[in-house]
Amino acid sequence: MTSARAYAAFDKSSPLKPFDLQRRTPGARDVAFDILFCGVCHSDLHTARSEWPGTVYPCVPGHEIVGQVTAVGAGVKKFKVGDRVAVGCMVDSCRTCASCKEGLEQYCDNHDATFTYNSVDKHGAGPVTYGGYSSHMVVDEDFCLRLSEKLDPAAAAPLLCAGVTTWSPLKHWGAGPGRKVGVVGLGGLGHMALKLAHALGAHTTLFTTSAGKAADAKRLGADEVVISKDAAAMQKHTRRLDLIIDTVSASHDLDAFTNLLARDGTLVLVGVPEHGHPSPAVMPLIFGRRAIAGSLIGGIQETQEMLDFCAEKGVVADIEKIGPHQIDEAYARMLKSDVKYRFVIDMAPLRG
Ligand code: NAP
Ligand code: ZN
Ligand code: ZN
Repeated sequence: MTSARAYAAFDKSSPLKPFDLQRRTPGARDVAFDILFCGVCHSDLHTARSEWPGTVYPCVPGHEIVGQVTAVGAGVKKFKVGDRVAVGCMVDSCRTCASCKEGLEQYCDNHDATFTYNSVDKHGAGPVTYGGYSSHMVVDEDFCLRLSEKLDPAAAAPLLCAGVTTWSPLKHWGAGPGRKVGVVGLGGLGHMALKLAHALGAHTTLFTTSAGKAADAKRLGADEVVISKDAAAMQKHTRRLDLIIDTVSASHDLDAFTNLLARDGTLVLVGVPEHGHPSPAVMPLIFGRRAIAGSLIGGIQETQEMLDFCAEKGVVADIEKIGPHQIDEAYARMLKSDVKYRFVIDMAPLRG
């Protein structure tokens, strides 16, 4: 075991504080690495503040991780010391069920996906897994991703959650040339959804509550921008969109968006608010054969595909770098929708 320096939430309301934790001694299939950068996802905030059930304290969030390999087990084939490595939302799964075998480990049929933080630690180094707000980490190579040296490591970190969480539904529901894709909310996930849908060749429309983000949205890949509080502007998009990715982190009215779907269109919910949305009206769904669906992160194989696509197209997140002592400030700003468009923690102070 080695000691790692981290930042942890100790309860649902206090600021995160320094915390020392144990990482396991690397086994034959393990990759040990120093963490260079870790993105700040709204899921970190939901978990740290017990907005979702089941947070075990101390809680070390962080699942948008880019690092540099410091040691590998004897059986590791993909990585060597000095390589760049990335880890997202999962560090293990049952690997035997149909979903795991299909590369969709996040939907493990045995409910055995090990998430990067706040999951039971099968290796017993701690009561639960501890995430990327820390100095170093040890992860099975099957859950480690390759990240091109062409991409800036800090700006690439958010691809590991915000990127793949939007990539997965964009690919599953066929975003591409000739398809009209809407994105709701311009935060971490929303700005990646825009960039990726644009890079895939879809026509993109951004729906935002923040009028001040309109110019940025165009720069990030939006063909059109709609202020969602403006009913008349919303009305103009009725029955136009094939796919809408809803990234909003708070409870809101879904009918405003189902009404914008064309026949057979799908509203995909990826935001997971603390309190559920008001029940959607049935009529807009029936009169248009429209669907509301959900989507959870992405599998390991599709994460690698997304990272390779981003390396080829030069797609990374727009980020604001912070130090580990600024995490609470970042959470406060995220809650005010004041993020352009992802906070990324530089872990240098924790590596010492
Ligand atoms: P974020 O950076 O805080 O962005 C959320 C955006 O939603 C805000 O920037 C804002 O955009 C909009 N918004 C916030 N409050 C709103 C309100 N009351 N009404 C309408 N719009 C509002 O968060 P994020 O990191 O992108 O995460 C978004 C959500 O996705 C979170 O709930 C997170 O837990 C979830 N998530 C889900 C998965 C998954 O696998 N499904 C993976 C990662 C994250 P505008 O200013 O443009 O309106
Ligand atoms: Zn996330
Ligand atoms: Zn499984």
